[in-house]
Amino acid sequence: MIIKDKEFDIYLNISQIEDRISEIGHQISNDYSHSTPLFIGILNGSFMFASQLFKNLSIQAEISFIKLSSYKNLTSSGEVTQLLGLNETIFQRDVIILEDIVDTGTTMVQLLATMDELGPKSVEIATLLYKPGAMVEKLDLKYVGFEIPDRFVIGYGLDYDGLGRNLSDIYQLKL
Ligand code: 5GP
Repeated sequence: MIIKDKEFDIYLNISQIEDRISEIGHQISNDYSHSTPLFIGILNGSFMFASQLFKNLSIQAEISFIKLSSYKNLTSSGEVTQLLGLNETIFQRDVIILEDIVDTGTTMVQLLATMDELGPKSVEIATLLYKPGAMVEKLDLKYVGFEIPDRFVIGYGLDYDGLGRNLSDIYQLKL
């Protein structure tokens, strides 16, 4: 698979991805059986994960999406702006953040700090992908789809320079 100037190999196929998301959906449904959590999907990358996870919940739940600063090319920018488009009040709510991938963890740490100021009852993170080898922050990731090596991935919502989000499988940059 070639996107622009880069070559990618298949890494996770759609059925592996959807099976794992279904497991996380059940886990969250158990953990939040006495609550109506508010899911907050981080745009753009989390839209497919968020949609698939939401379909796999058996509890009452709300979902909303926000946008942070964008990721440029192959390395994390490390810059996060404010939460754009958060219309729901998260005060005293159980919040579950939906992220496509946690790399260095910087985005999540800054997001959690901003959210804490809004007084939620609880905040947990659900991320489809996690690169433990790239993590530089101390971060508690409650729900992780797949731990993956520290290599650039695309597909299932994740992009390379705006492209590749539509791929239903996840691909890894060829070495
Ligand atoms: P962090 O702040 O954890 O370093 O970076 C998180 C953000 O970087 C993710 O939300 C995602 O947008 C982007 N990112 C990190 N690694 C990758 C990757 O391998 N592929 C893509 N497409 N984006 C990535």
